Amino acid sequence: MQHISFKLISIVNDVIGLFYPRICGGCDAHLMKHEQNLCLNCLHHLPKTYYWDYEVNPTEQLFWGKLKVDAACGFLHFGKDSIVQQLMHRFKYKRKTGIGRELGRQFAIILKDKQWFTDVDVIVPIPLHPSKQLRRGYNQSDYFAEGISEVYDVPVRRKAMKRVVATDSQTRKSRYDRSENVEEVFQVSDLNAIRGKNVLLVDDVITTGATLEAAGNRLLEAGAAKLYIAVIAVS
Ligand SMILES: [Zn+2]
Repeated sequence: MQHISFKLISIVNDVIGLFYPRICGGCDAHLMKHEQNLCLNCLHHLPKTYYWDYEVNPTEQLFWGKLKVDAACGFLHFGKDSIVQQLMHRFKYKRKTGIGRELGRQFAIILKDKQWFTDVDVIVPIPLHPSKQLRRGYNQSDYFAEGISEVYDVPVRRKAMKRVVATDSQTRKSRYDRSENVEEVFQVSDLNAIRGKNVLLVDDVITTGATLEAAGNRLLEAGAAKLYIAVIAVS
């Protein structure tokens, strides 16, 4: 059912795109023919972290002592009132799913070029709780995963894991509450998709890393051979 509704949303988006002019998700400028979702000017001005060039990067350091992750990387700095904040808002709440897909693609092009995640087998987006996904109509991380998948040519397994506990709106929680809150939130629902595989777990924003830590530990318990993490924005 979830699969059908996801496909339906994609088809509806494609149809809408036929009738409305293509505009940049960042600055609302009309896109040139060769541009997709974001204009070249916005792409150029994204505040990239350049973590892919670090020996040890701050995204990986968040997991030290908590999660056995083989490599982790964040793409952009999430500054208040920045273009990234605007992009993420439109991506998460305004159905501008093309933004997430485009950011996934742009990130993956860099990572692949820098020899990151060379042996990844499957991509797993952090799932939303079904009730939340129903309200929003989509899971934003699915689109980020799709963009990465296009570049790496490996499948997205969006039903490999599910969120079984609906946490309160995490934005209103303190850091302490948040880490307490996510312990048993996730379950691996398709063991065959995970066991023995090199898994790339993806999410939109990372703050404390507690959500990714909880999900990552479930993937390792389910027998993932290697665990990688990629996030769009580092808060
Ligand atoms: Zn733009």
